[in-house]
Amino acid sequence: MCLICVDFQKGRMNMLDARRAIGEMREKIGEEHTREVVKMLDEADRNDRDKSDD
Ligand SMILES: [Zn+2]
Repeated sequence: MCLICVDFQKGRMNMLDARRAIGEMREKIGEEHTREVVKMLDEADRNDRDKSDD
């Protein structure tokens, strides 16, 4: 967990901000967590698209 996870899940950060933040936070949170955050964002993105489809 990092600031991006917390803020994104609480809705204080939108998809665009989170993706921008991951580039800046990458070195701080490490490659492993960076992958986890990117995965989380991709899944949230996919869920959003699924929802707007119906
Ligand atoms: Zn995190």
